[in-house]
Amino acid sequence: MSENRIKRKVVILGSGPAGLTAAIYTGRAQLEPLVIDGPQPGGQLTITTEVENYPGFRAGIMGPILMDEFREQALRFGTEIINVWIDKVDLSKRPFTLYGKESQDAEEISTIIEAETLIISTGASAKWLDVPGEAPVPEGLGGAGVSACATCDGFFFRGRPIVVVGGGDTAMEEALFLTKFASKVTLVHRREEFRASKIMQDRVLAHENIDVLWNTEIRSINGSQEKGVESVTIYNRKTQETSDFPTQGVFIAIGHQPNTSLFKGILDMDDVGYLKTEGRTMRTNIPGVFACGDAQDAYYRQAITAAGTGCMAAIDAERFLAEVDHATEKQTATNW
Ligand code: NDP
Repeated sequence: MSENRIKRKVVILGSGPAGLTAAIYTGRAQLEPLVIDGPQPGGQLTITTEVENYPGFRAGIMGPILMDEFREQALRFGTEIINVWIDKVDLSKRPFTLYGKESQDAEEISTIIEAETLIISTGASAKWLDVPGEAPVPEGLGGAGVSACATCDGFFFRGRPIVVVGGGDTAMEEALFLTKFASKVTLVHRREEFRASKIMQDRVLAHENIDVLWNTEIRSINGSQEKGVESVTIYNRKTQETSDFPTQGVFIAIGHQPNTSLFKGILDMDDVGYLKTEGRTMRTNIPGVFACGDAQDAYYRQAITAAGTGCMAAIDAERFLAEVDHATEKQTATNW
């Protein structure tokens, strides 16, 4: 099979707020960026509900609608968006090479992309508890009562008791959203205080249909494929007691892992896998490769900060290309 070959000045890997902002900026700079959608086109906001803190929308906006706007704005300035699974990259020389397959499971490389600059905006994915019963069916009950996305799966729990795990803003948001469907929401948190923002904590603690189990860990998720989730085994860290807690759904909301495994051993990253960038720039340790959004931000992790760093990466890439062009012109002039 002959591969599809694409050559671009700017290639952006990932299409969340960071990647699409980088596309808007490099598109307006006439650099005709190529955006490669990841497995979650539009990023994490496409699986969230209402976004209340993105400036410019005083009444809030639904996450998927916001990302549609980003996408259309990027397309307006000459961005091309393709959907391939990038299997490996060669960043040892410029232009960089990205090898794409039609899907993660496909055997053959179908697309080879040459990039003069690469902007990495691969985002982050939900973390899991790693307890028995959590894996996707048939090994566990993932997809049969266990989920990491209330927006996607909340509807299936109409009139049923459910459990949400975590103590951050995601857990608060999921718990509040799930009260629309569930007969009762129980928030299970391993410590005796939340790390979520005060406003979200207050809303959760004031909600009559949300209970909190403090100092509690989930040890296993129990049930069967036929009946779905029936209970969770919980462990109280204070009393050291283990017991069964009946529930019909488990939503895991315990944070995220950066999607950077493709660059392991190639780009500098921290222990968790967040890409390292230089000082106030979005430059990685390889000249011409930039990182933005949740793939490099373990701290702020907001849509607005992701978009901000996408803008910064775009400007860094633009300047890098201008410097390379300038150096080439100078070299040509010297040769004459
Ligand atoms: P966080 O890292 O903030 O919180 C993760 C939570 O899960 C913590 O309470 C943590 O417990 C708990 N946890 C982690 N690992 C485990 C485990 N193995 N078992 C049990 N519990 C565990 O992640 P979030 O996804 O909640 O938030 C990420 C960022 O996104 C934050 O900056 C947040 O403010 C932001 N955000 C903002 C929103 C908004 O403004 N509307 C909405 C959603 C997220 P512990 O506290 O003990 O460490």
